[in-house]
Amino acid sequence: MSPAKIRLCVDQPLGAGQSLPLDEAQAHYLFGVMREAVGARVLVFNGRDGEWLAEVTEAGKRKGTLLCLEETRAQTAPADLWLLFAPVKKARTDIIVEKAVELGAARIVPVATDYTNSERLRRDKAEAHVREAAEQCGALFLPEVAEMAPLARLLGDWSKDRRILWADESAPAGSPAATLARSEPGPWAILTGPEGGFSESERSRLRALSFVIPVSLGPRILRAETAAIAAMTLWQAHLGDWR
Ligand code: SAH
Repeated sequence: MSPAKIRLCVDQPLGAGQSLPLDEAQAHYLFGVMREAVGARVLVFNGRDGEWLAEVTEAGKRKGTLLCLEETRAQTAPADLWLLFAPVKKARTDIIVEKAVELGAARIVPVATDYTNSERLRRDKAEAHVREAAEQCGALFLPEVAEMAPLARLLGDWSKDRRILWADESAPAGSPAATLARSEPGPWAILTGPEGGFSESERSRLRALSFVIPVSLGPRILRAETAAIAAMTLWQAHLGDWR
């Protein structure tokens, strides 16, 4: 029997002896695309119950069933990092969502800012990207994609014990690594802006908030998705689960 390589994200609870009916897309992927058959072994996870080895017990064109055998990895919680980002063009937003999963964000929060050029984000599509990214990267946790909310409202309702690492392209040059080295782990969020950056009024509001820590990400203007990836990398290396 070949070792299981395919990882499938499922909705059902996982446990020994649990039977897992597959939906049409999963059956098509496993049996049509990957050519797996009855007896094949796959890994399954649901974001809550760890990762399990499962065996194909029924393989059809449009349906199929798996049997949950044994736990391969216990569930772990992600580091407490949220990513607040202004959605940009679709393909770039997809990258931000995918990279947030790979880089271990616990929650993904699309933010409407003054210069956000994308009015809405299809939550169902973003959630599908989260699942796909988690399947691919071995993540056990599925970050929730929040409803898009205006920046002013988010800041108004903010719980002050969660610090915000604000990627501020107009911050004076300075080492973000040194800033993070002086900071405490705990609940954090990263905030990145849209292509147009943050407006003057957003900047002055953000600067006035004690829980907001502005950082420069170097002397070049980064694309929004690069800024999100760079900021998550910095945070994970200093305060997150890369330590
Ligand atoms: N139009 C803006 C750039 C926006 S870049 C301008 O020309 O000034 C999109 C977002 O990426 C920014 O809002 C910021 O959050 C982040 N970003 C880009 N480059 C950055 C840098 N050098 N330092 C910190 N944040 C940066």
